[in-house]
Amino acid sequence: MATSQDHAVVLGAGMSGLFTARVLADHFRRVTVVERDASGTDGPRRGIPQGRHPHGLLLRASDLFDSLFPGIVAECAEHGAVRASVLTQHRVYIHGHQLKQTEIGRETVLLSRPLLEHRVAERVRALPNVSVRRGWEAMDPVTAAGGRVTGVIVGRSGASEREDLPADLVVDATGRSGRAQAWLRALGYPEPAEQRMHVAVSYATRLYDLPPDALGNDRLVSVGAEPGRPLGLAFVARENQQWSLTVYGYGPDRPTGDPERFAAVVEQLAPEYLLKVLPRATGVGDIHVMQYPAQVRRRYDSLDRFPDGFLVTGDAMCSVNPIYGSGMTSAAAQARVLDEQLRGGVQGLWRRYFRAAARVTAPAWWFATLGDAPLTGAGPRLPGASLGAAYLRRLAKVAESDAETSAALMRVAGMDRPPASLFRPRLLARAMRGGRTPDVMRP
Ligand SMILES: Cc1cc2nc3c(=O)[nH]c(=O)nc-3n(C[C@H](O)[C@H](O)[C@H](O)COP(=O)(O)OP(=O)(O)OC[C@H]3O[C@@H](n4cnc5c(N)ncnc54)[C@H](O)[C@@H]3O)c2cc1C
Repeated sequence: MATSQDHAVVLGAGMSGLFTARVLADHFRRVTVVERDASGTDGPRRGIPQGRHPHGLLLRASDLFDSLFPGIVAECAEHGAVRASVLTQHRVYIHGHQLKQTEIGRETVLLSRPLLEHRVAERVRALPNVSVRRGWEAMDPVTAAGGRVTGVIVGRSGASEREDLPADLVVDATGRSGRAQAWLRALGYPEPAEQRMHVAVSYATRLYDLPPDALGNDRLVSVGAEPGRPLGLAFVARENQQWSLTVYGYGPDRPTGDPERFAAVVEQLAPEYLLKVLPRATGVGDIHVMQYPAQVRRRYDSLDRFPDGFLVTGDAMCSVNPIYGSGMTSAAAQARVLDEQLRGGVQGLWRRYFRAAARVTAPAWWFATLGDAPLTGAGPRLPGASLGAAYLRRLAKVAESDAETSAALMRVAGMDRPPASLFRPRLLARAMRGGRTPDVMRP
């Protein structure tokens, strides 16, 4: 323990709040997590509408999660999570090209969000110096002279009861619509500049009963959207012999909860071998729809004034289109960064933390905004976006038959390698030579 601080408060018990609490438990005598939802973690809950949509751990996530909670990935698997070898058990189509199925010695873990959150929340609950207050909402910061945040006022959700929680550090992990910007405004601090890309994505998901080996060896099918056809599909195994079927779309021509529209999009996108299997699957419950308006990255790392005693993490700092599946990996990486920076003490913590956190969120932001740039009419013009997007498209074409290119794409998508690794000479040469055949419009 490098700091000798007394009390830290984490706002929000989503994945980033739980990761943050785990890390702070090593640096503070007591940690309190304040969560607005009163309900437990073992089922869908109001504050996590994404809980009804498929969740998976990217390549890099397993190592990060295990470093925070040793054995957590195996524990999830014991409770039914599906481990899928990359890329032999994934069938991934990018721009109409199926990436060559090749063994790269890594795996993804496929499971429902409630299963993952519940296992992680139980680990946090077992930490002797952490307490989680569910059914309490962060209201306002408490500050001292000089602007330092010295605590937070919390209120019982839906009631008038209020309480002051004094704290040496308050961390906002309340998600993409978090409180931090309003608080900064109220306290007279500058707000961070925002990078924003409007994507207007809708997700429609339905669960199906189907054995995990229904598609032979495959445990995940992903058909990405492409320019001219901004619709995509994912069919993902999970616990309890179930699969999630998600269709998503950018802009106005979006999937809805209407079963006929849902079926029509599935019919349009699903590869033949999946269409043959789907009649054997039994639909469970309704189609759940979620809108995701914009990818947002708040540049706290560029601020020159910010209150001591306060930090922001997770989706509240950087929220990328969920179809890239990087949110929880990013959140865990930010928690690791916080741990490292706390080892250097609390002096100047916010500046060091935000700079380091911006570095770990940058690759996911790069990949998701470059991937979405050709699919959205709106959003900022990214420097080099059309060139970068064309290069990714070319790599996808080469990856159809080239195992090395296929593996390289999956490793970058999985945050296991930096984006720069896609520009190494061998891949550049292959992209220049290959990919000259016409685009395939349907898998
Ligand atoms: C459809 C969808 C699918 C996704 N799939 C994946 C995936 O496969 N893989 C992946 O890595 N990521 C995925 N994500 C993203 C991932 O869920 C998040 O990026 C990640 O969990 C980090 O979120 P967070 O904890 O920062 O915020 P959130 O998940 O939004 O959690 C915020 C928490 O704060 C609480 N809260 C809000 N306001 C207050 C308040 N005032 N006081 C107290 N508590 C408050 C909320 O109730 C909630 O519990 C997906 C997201 C969506 C939308």
